[in-house]
Amino acid sequence: MRIHTLDLNFLNSKQVLSSYLVESDPPFLVETGPDSTFENLKAELRKFGYEIKDIKYVFITHIHLDHSGAAFRFANEGAKIYVHPNGKRHLVNPEKLIRSATMVYKERTYELWGDTLPIDEEKVIETSDGQIITIGDIQVRVLDSPGHAKHHNVYLIDDHLFTGDTGGVRIGNGPIMPAVPPPDIDIPIWLKTIEKMKSYNATYICPSHFGCFSDVEYHLETLRKNLIKYDEFIKKQIKFSDDYNTLFPIFKEYVDSFFTDKKVRDFYQFANPDEMNLAGLIRYAKVNKFDVE
Ligand SMILES: [Zn+2]
Repeated sequence: MRIHTLDLNFLNSKQVLSSYLVESDPPFLVETGPDSTFENLKAELRKFGYEIKDIKYVFITHIHLDHSGAAFRFANEGAKIYVHPNGKRHLVNPEKLIRSATMVYKERTYELWGDTLPIDEEKVIETSDGQIITIGDIQVRVLDSPGHAKHHNVYLIDDHLFTGDTGGVRIGNGPIMPAVPPPDIDIPIWLKTIEKMKSYNATYICPSHFGCFSDVEYHLETLRKNLIKYDEFIKKQIKFSDDYNTLFPIFKEYVDSFFTDKKVRDFYQFANPDEMNLAGLIRYAKVNKFDVE
C-alpha cells in the first residue's frame, strides 16, 4: 500500500487543499475536494494510472464542500461514499449545504465550489465510531471526531491519521491553526477529540489542508494549545463586543501574530479564511453565553 497526496490546486494555489489516494488493491480515496477542482483531481489520479471509475470507495471526513463536493461524481461512476451518520442526509439532499454556502459566498459560490448534486441514498454508507472497514487487505478505522463539525470522521489507515479539519490546518512550514467555521465548533469537545487522536500513536498525520507530517505528537499538542488560545481570545473579546465588524480587525491582527511569513499567511487565508473563523468563534461564544457576565 502507498499513500499519495493529490494536490487539487484549489484557487490555482498549490498546497492548499488535498485529496489522498490510497494505492492498494482496490485503490480508494480520502476526500474528493469540491467539484470545482474535479478536473485537477482527475489529472492527479491519471498520474498514477487511474480513472474515476477505478475508484470504488471514497471516505469523506466531513461534508463541508471543500472536502466532499465532488463525491457525487464518484458515486455516479459506481463508488460507495463513506460518511459520518450526521452527514449522510446532506449528501443525499445537498439543498441545505448549497443554501448555506450561498449565504456565505454569495455570487462566488459557483466559482469556488462548482456543482453540488445529490447522491443516491444506497451509495452513501453511514459509518459508526470505532468501526473497521476492510477494503481489499487494508483496514480503515473510523473515529467519530466532533469539535470542528458534528459530522466529522477521522480515519486511521495503517499508521496514517487522516484528520480532515479536526487536525487543524498546516501548510508547509507554517503554524498549526484551528479551523473554526460556523455552526458546529465546540472547543471543549474538540480538545477531547485531540486526546482521542493522540491515543492511536499514528506515525503520520494528514490534514486535508495540507499533506502528511511525521511529527504527530508535536502537531496535535500545538493544535491543542492554539485551540485553547482561540478559546481565550473569543472569551475575552466577546465581553467587549459581539459585533463581527468591530472584532474583525482585532481577530485579523491576532491571527497575524501566529505567522512570521506574510506569503504563507495568504495561503492559509485560502484554506482557512479569517472571515469564517471569526463568524464561527462569535457563534460559539453566543451559544455558550460567554457574552453574558
Ligand atoms: Zn471543514
